[in-house]
Amino acid sequence: MPVNGLPPYDDDNIFAKILRGDIPCRKVFEDEWALAFHDIAPQAPLHVLVVPRGRYCSFADFSAAASPEEIAGFTRALGQVARDLGLEADGYRIIANMGEHSGQEVPHYHAHILAGRPLGKMLPA
Ligand code: 5GP
Repeated sequence: MPVNGLPPYDDDNIFAKILRGDIPCRKVFEDEWALAFHDIAPQAPLHVLVVPRGRYCSFADFSAAASPEEIAGFTRALGQVARDLGLEADGYRIIANMGEHSGQEVPHYHAHILAGRPLGKMLPA
């Protein structure tokens, strides 16, 4: 169930379709808790999205409503993806957009992993 007045989960969002296999993705990792795949419009040399399998529309929803096992499983999957991609030596950035001011486009909670060059300041000046 959505929390704190958030809208209900939309089963037709693009990541729900990717999780169901209704539309393809360039998969880099999957386990019981998460699926990771390349972003269709990369904003860095490497831009991977990591999405939990559960029906959570945002970080706010996930952090409040997911079980401890889902939260731990997703967090470990996120770290595993970065390790598997060999990103730890040079570093990377994780971003999760939540809600209107963040510019969140897809209403299924996801983390962006960005890497492959120095990423500059966290926000434009
Ligand atoms: P948000 O703005 O919600 O944090 O990020 C959504 C991300 O999903 C964007 O970076 C966008 O490029 C990506 N995206 C949107 N549609 C698709 C799609 O069909 N496939 C993949 N792989 N990425 C998508």
